[in-house]
Amino acid sequence: MEQIYVDNNATTQITPEVLDEMMPFLKGLYANPSSMYRFAGQVSKRLREARRKVADLLGATSEEIIFTSCGSESDNTAIRAAIQAYPNKRHIVTTRVEHPAIKNLFEHLSKEGWRVTMVPVDNNGRLDVDFLVRSLTPDTAVVSIMWANNETGVVFPIDEISQIVKARGIVFHTDAVQAVGKIAIDLRRIPADMLSFSGHKLHAPKGIGVLYVRRGTRFTPFLIGGHQESGRRAGTENVASIIGLGKACELAKIHLEEENARVRQLRDRLERGLLEKIPGAKVNGERENRLPNTTNISFEGVEGEAILLMMDQWGIYASSGSACTSGSLQPSHVLRAMGVPFTLAHGSIRFSLSRYNTDRDIGYILEKLPPIIEDLRELSPFWKTCDSTQPGAITQTF
Ligand code: PLP
Repeated sequence: MEQIYVDNNATTQITPEVLDEMMPFLKGLYANPSSMYRFAGQVSKRLREARRKVADLLGATSEEIIFTSCGSESDNTAIRAAIQAYPNKRHIVTTRVEHPAIKNLFEHLSKEGWRVTMVPVDNNGRLDVDFLVRSLTPDTAVVSIMWANNETGVVFPIDEISQIVKARGIVFHTDAVQAVGKIAIDLRRIPADMLSFSGHKLHAPKGIGVLYVRRGTRFTPFLIGGHQESGRRAGTENVASIIGLGKACELAKIHLEEENARVRQLRDRLERGLLEKIPGAKVNGERENRLPNTTNISFEGVEGEAILLMMDQWGIYASSGSACTSGSLQPSHVLRAMGVPFTLAHGSIRFSLSRYNTDRDIGYILEKLPPIIEDLRELSPFWKTCDSTQPGAITQTF
């Protein structure tokens, strides 16, 4: 059976060249990079090179890069460091559409006594920047705004936002887990204090993350222990994965533009084809400022989970905008924040492509998915009462 993987915002395949770079460090070159002998020196030298490659992709310096275990650890470390740096400030700001790594942390901090503002988005997933500006006060310790949304691919104007926040002397962090490797990032131009990302979203392994901390930013480590990462994150380095990530960043820097142009064409062909072939299909999120690899489409009158199961039968792997929690389907908080009607949010599917997708993959999805939706709609008594010419016309739940 064919295997069409279009769930690259969940995770990506490791590039063969990345794996090749890692293998010696999983075999013979196993020394602890902190040791003093030459055997260890070979490892620490390669770690330094990897750190430089990561920094190069961001327009940063090696000293500003801290390796962590994942994007979630980077996010948690950044926010904790910011609030510890300004203990008298009790207000923190984020958006309503963050990944749980930030959203749940902020909800947790709200229970610990911080005043939390969650900035809304409009129906197209665009951030209400005026609302953000109005929410800033002398009591604000940190503002954390994601660079690109994992579900819709909508890209926020981080350039503009970071300037505004920095002009008020407030710490600015961005969760760039979905942006790094997909769009060009230059931290020489963008005054973010901290930025998080994760290896497994850009064809490096899982279990390796990065926290960028701009020189001069007040910082307290989250993991306390050994002196690794210049005393900013304890724990023996995940050597092979760091070296793999260095390679992935080097490749991303070289190929970003040309690969993204190709991926964008494939994504656009998929989107156009599905909208043409399937009545009542609707794209969630603005089409302009969007990651080149992502499209989130609602298919009115059917449940996303059912679509996923049927696509799975044909070897097509994507994800849905609803999650089964305690036996009931909960539409995603992102689509709810955008005001997507309940029934459309329930029937949403995220397709996220990568450099490994081909024209053939898109043809295959365009062949298999329309009949799947038609069959599911046949089974849905509800669909027969829908007027698909009225987007968002449905108000009942099912
Ligand atoms: N932030 C965003 C926007 C993400 O998409 C993800 C993962 O999907 C994370 C944070 C968490 O990254 P990790 O899985 O490396 O902890």
